[in-house]
Amino acid sequence: MNYYFHVPFCASKCGYCAFYSLPGVGREVVDAYLDRLERTFVPCGRGETLYIGGGTPTFLTVEQMERFFKLLRSRIEFEEGAEISCEANPETLTPEKVALLRENITRLSMGVQSFDASVRNNIGRKCSDEALENAISLVRKAAFPHWNMDLIFALPGQSDEAFFAGAARALSCGADHISCYALTAEENAALKLPEDDERAAELMPAIARFLEGQGVCRYEISNFARPGAECRHNVNVWRGGLLSGHGPGACGFDGVDRWSNPPLEAWLKDTPPERDRISKAERLNEIFAVNLRTAAGWTPGLWAKVPGADGWQKRLKIIRTVASSMGEDWFIISEGRIALTGDGMMFWNSVAGEIFDYGT
Ligand code: SF4
Repeated sequence: MNYYFHVPFCASKCGYCAFYSLPGVGREVVDAYLDRLERTFVPCGRGETLYIGGGTPTFLTVEQMERFFKLLRSRIEFEEGAEISCEANPETLTPEKVALLRENITRLSMGVQSFDASVRNNIGRKCSDEALENAISLVRKAAFPHWNMDLIFALPGQSDEAFFAGAARALSCGADHISCYALTAEENAALKLPEDDERAAELMPAIARFLEGQGVCRYEISNFARPGAECRHNVNVWRGGLLSGHGPGACGFDGVDRWSNPPLEAWLKDTPPERDRISKAERLNEIFAVNLRTAAGWTPGLWAKVPGADGWQKRLKIIRTVASSMGEDWFIISEGRIALTGDGMMFWNSVAGEIFDYGT
């Protein structure tokens, strides 16, 4: 089973953020969150992966983090070699928290976003250079088995050179996974960004070349990793794996429906999740499209593992129809594999739209 826990608390709200996150809550709110998890969390199978995301899981105090990990460790039976990931923001890390994370997780994901303080400031990301350097030094010393850094590119006030210098810095710090995102203008975010899709689209192939030149390969539209450092949790979920999601706003997938938990207030009152009931054909098309975000794409064997999968020949028929209307050079199609080329990945949204609409 792939477990996901959403920790929706943050020290402050970043200007670009459109995620479900609650800035600056008091200690008692986090305690109520932990009480509810303790009261109701029942695992549903051995854990192959666990992903603790946010929000900012490291916003919790050391005592709260201890309580949280104790709860997870005592209830979930993990498979040998399970991947346990946790997101962290540099400004919240202390030596005690890093030590606790090192004891309990196998993969740390740090939201750096930019190594340039003025760029972080422009996007309302409150983290000083001192806090960032301190966090990097703590994490380097702790030597986590795997370490991701999130970096944003094509930002206002950020030169391309500065982005590449940041990516080089991330690798020199020992990160073996880099998630590269371009911000998109979000209606719910405080910061109103100019849409600059063209700049982002031009930059991504150069980023891929740069990172691949350093042995860090693109395995998903926004994600790069050294061999063996890919995020197993995400890979499983993209391939239609089961997802047991917990916490306010968390999503899950039981093999038939996706569902999402309500926001904190309702979640604390045990309000049940909302089910996203779509037909089986639509669900299969959705899963089929999502994993085309990955460089590996689908093989007959991977497709056969999708809950309720239909035949591989049907998938070939769908993708050939989509390719004939969109341009064959975006697609890699053979009896043994369906994937998108680098160019095709740039237009994943359009490809996915065609797949979603197929036969519905
Ligand atoms: S971007 Fe991340 S750290 Fe910033 S407010 Fe949103 S969830 Fe919190």
